[in-house]
Amino acid sequence: MLVFLALVTVALASAHPPSEHFEGHKVFRVQVEDENHLDVIRELASNYQIDFWKPDSVIQVQARSTVDFSVKAEDCVAVEDLLEQNKLQYEVLISNLRNEMEAQFDSWSRAAGHSYTKYNNWETIEAWTQQVAKENPNLVSRSVIGTTFEGRPMYLLKVGKAKRNKPAIFIDCGFHAREWISPAFCQWFVREAVRTYGQEIHMTELLNELDFYVLPVVNIDGYVYTWTKNRMWRKTRSTQAGTSCVGIDPNRNFAAGWCEVGASKNPCSDTYCGPVPESEKETKALADFIRNNLSSIKAYLTIHSYSQMLLYPYSYTYNLPKNNVELNSLAKAAVKELASLHGTKYTYGPGATTIYLAAGGSDDWAYDQGIKYAFTFELRDQGRHGFLLPESQIQATCEETLLAVKHMAGYVLEHLY
Ligand SMILES: [Zn+2]
Repeated sequence: MLVFLALVTVALASAHPPSEHFEGHKVFRVQVEDENHLDVIRELASNYQIDFWKPDSVIQVQARSTVDFSVKAEDCVAVEDLLEQNKLQYEVLISNLRNEMEAQFDSWSRAAGHSYTKYNNWETIEAWTQQVAKENPNLVSRSVIGTTFEGRPMYLLKVGKAKRNKPAIFIDCGFHAREWISPAFCQWFVREAVRTYGQEIHMTELLNELDFYVLPVVNIDGYVYTWTKNRMWRKTRSTQAGTSCVGIDPNRNFAAGWCEVGASKNPCSDTYCGPVPESEKETKALADFIRNNLSSIKAYLTIHSYSQMLLYPYSYTYNLPKNNVELNSLAKAAVKELASLHGTKYTYGPGATTIYLAAGGSDDWAYDQGIKYAFTFELRDQGRHGFLLPESQIQATCEETLLAVKHMAGYVLEHLY
C-alpha cells in the first residue's frame, strides 16, 4: 500500500512543471517614486537577471508607480542591499517562488483527467476541445484556424445555437504562456454555456442570438513550455536567424502602432515585438480569422492576468477611442457585475493610462479593424500570487469574470452595428 501511494505521488508530481530551479527565488514589489528610483531599477535590470512581472519589462517602468519582479536566489541579497541603500520602499510578495509554484496545485478535485477547477496541460485541453464539441453537437463546433511554430493545431470553438447571419463575439485566452488562469477561463466559459443553455434565461438568449468564438489557448507552444520546462515563460517559442533568444511577445506583434512604445526590438526581451507585425504563425492565424469574419464579429475580448483590470483602447497612444464614453460606461457596469459575486475590485479605463503604454496589442488592433467593443481582461490577483494563482481560486475567478462577460455580451446584443 505504501509503495502504491508513493508511486501515485511520484506520478502526480511529475505531471507538474519542474520547480527546483526556482528554489529561493523571490518576488519583490518596489515603490518607484521618482527618476532616481527609476535609474536604480534600470541598474538592477542590467546587472541581474530580473524577471519583470508587472509591468512586463523594464522599459515600461514609470516614476510614481509600483513594479513587481522576481530575482534569482543568489542575487536576492545584492538586490535588497541596493534597494535599501537607495531608499526604495519594497515588500517581498513571494519569499520562495518554488514553494509558491507547488502551492498553486491546491485543488480539491481528485479528477485525473480534465477538470474545470484545475489547471490542465495542453494535451488535456486539446482532448477536451474534441470532447466538448462531440458531446454538444447542437451548440459547439470545433475548427482549426492555423498551426503554431512547433506545428500544433490551433483549435477554435464556435459556441451558439445554429442560425443564419448571427453576430459574434470573439474571446481568446492564453496569449502569455505563464498566465494560466486565462485558459482556465475559456474552458469555464464553454462549460457554463453548454451547462446553462436552456436553463438560464440570459445565457440561453445570448447563445440563441450570438455566436461565441472561443480560442482556448493562443500561444500553445509557450503554454506547453510552461508545463515542461519553465513555468515562468511568457513568449512564443519561435526561433529566428541571428539570435539564440527564443520567442516574441504575441501581444506586441499586432499592427497597432507596432513597436512604437512599450515594446522592445531586442529579441531577448520579454516584450520583443518580432521582426514585423504578425511575424508569428499564432498571431497571423488569429488576425486572419478576425479579418475573414469582420462582418460578423461585434466584440473582441482577450483574457490575460494579473492585475484585476478591464482595459479598452488605446494602449499604443494616449489618444482616446471615438466611443470612449460608451466603452467607459460599459467597463464600469461590467466590473460592477464582476464585483457583485465575491467583492473582487477591478479598475478600468483606456490601457495607456490605466496600466501603461504598450504598442502592438490585439485589442487595439481589433478596435482599429472596426470592432467597436474591444477589451482586455487582466484577471486575479493583484500580486499576492501573481501568475501563480492557486487552483482553489479558479472557480471564483471564472464565475465572477463570466458575469462581466455575460453583461458585455448582452450589451453588444442590444447595440448591434
Ligand atoms: Zn498577458
